[in-house]
Amino acid sequence: MKEVTSMDEKAGRQTVLVVDDSPVNLQMLGKLLQDEWNVKVATNGKTALQIASSDDPPDLILLDVMMPEIDGYTICRILKASPETMDIPVIFVTAMNQVEDEARGLEMGAIDYIVKPYSAAIVKARVRNHMELKLYRDMLKNASRIDGLTGIANRRRFDETIETEWKRAFREGEAMSLLMLDIDFFKRYNDAYGHQAGDECLRKIAMTLAKNLKRPGDLAARYGGEEFACVLPGVSPEGALKIAGRINAAVREMAMPHEDSDVAVIVTASIGVATMMPAEDEGWKKLVERADKALYQAKQQGRDRVVVSEKP
Ligand code: GH3
Ligand code: MG
Ligand code: MG
Repeated sequence: MKEVTSMDEKAGRQTVLVVDDSPVNLQMLGKLLQDEWNVKVATNGKTALQIASSDDPPDLILLDVMMPEIDGYTICRILKASPETMDIPVIFVTAMNQVEDEARGLEMGAIDYIVKPYSAAIVKARVRNHMELKLYRDMLKNASRIDGLTGIANRRRFDETIETEWKRAFREGEAMSLLMLDIDFFKRYNDAYGHQAGDECLRKIAMTLAKNLKRPGDLAARYGGEEFACVLPGVSPEGALKIAGRINAAVREMAMPHEDSDVAVIVTASIGVATMMPAEDEGWKKLVERADKALYQAKQQGRDRVVVSEKP
């Protein structure tokens, strides 16, 4: 048996990762679960942790307690200690049946405990319950990270994304770019056309941003009131400047009338651009600071333009 196998993956299904050092146990649980879920298996802790922290993590983990090298308790503790994996529910599957073992498992952060020998119907029912809860939790989590007005990422999602992308860029020795966009004379837009029209304008700008970001790692977010941010992992200064120019032009091309603007008769936006190589001793807040400063300069220099942050 291979160390990692994915049995018959079906799109849209939730995935359960079964971790057990015994191939016989793996096969039994796999057979039991594969009709309803995608099943991944791992025969040791190291592989289990790799799968759990991959880009395609499981929705639930069935974890054997007694395993050579790293035992199930330790794996659970490691999973629960990392922000990337802490939300994956863990069910212990074990032959141990003393009360203190169960308590210990639950204290480690496991959501449930299945004692061997188990009944197939009960395992399925419990997995089904926990999968349903996981689905609702995921939905809530997604909803809490979306901006209600525009439907793009909100500030919370921006903070989470830039944090993880900054770390990833550091690990991979890549640059990271950030755009900060602010609508020009937007207070006057609201005053002239009403708050509803203002909201509609924000929605259109948000859609324009989303449309102009092409890579899967890019993120457009509503940063605050009429301010937007684009996180561009692995994008060079030249690339970021190009994207910013494209967005500035796309806002103009929508030609939303704005009679009270001092820079044009249509809605325009100012954009600040910054690029940094993430370093051990410098966090992403510095990148936001620089993009913000560049945006301020764009406003100072007359608005409706892109300004790139100067090298410090
Ligand atoms: P500047 O060109 O210097 O950016 O001028 P401005 O008027 O755009 O800047 P200011 O920050 O003074 O005003 C921002 C305005 O954005 C104030 C507020 O009424 C409006 N705004 C913020 N959030 C919302 C929102 O959710 N909906 C609407 N309609 N307007 C909003
Ligand atoms: Mg503003
Ligand atoms: Mg503004």
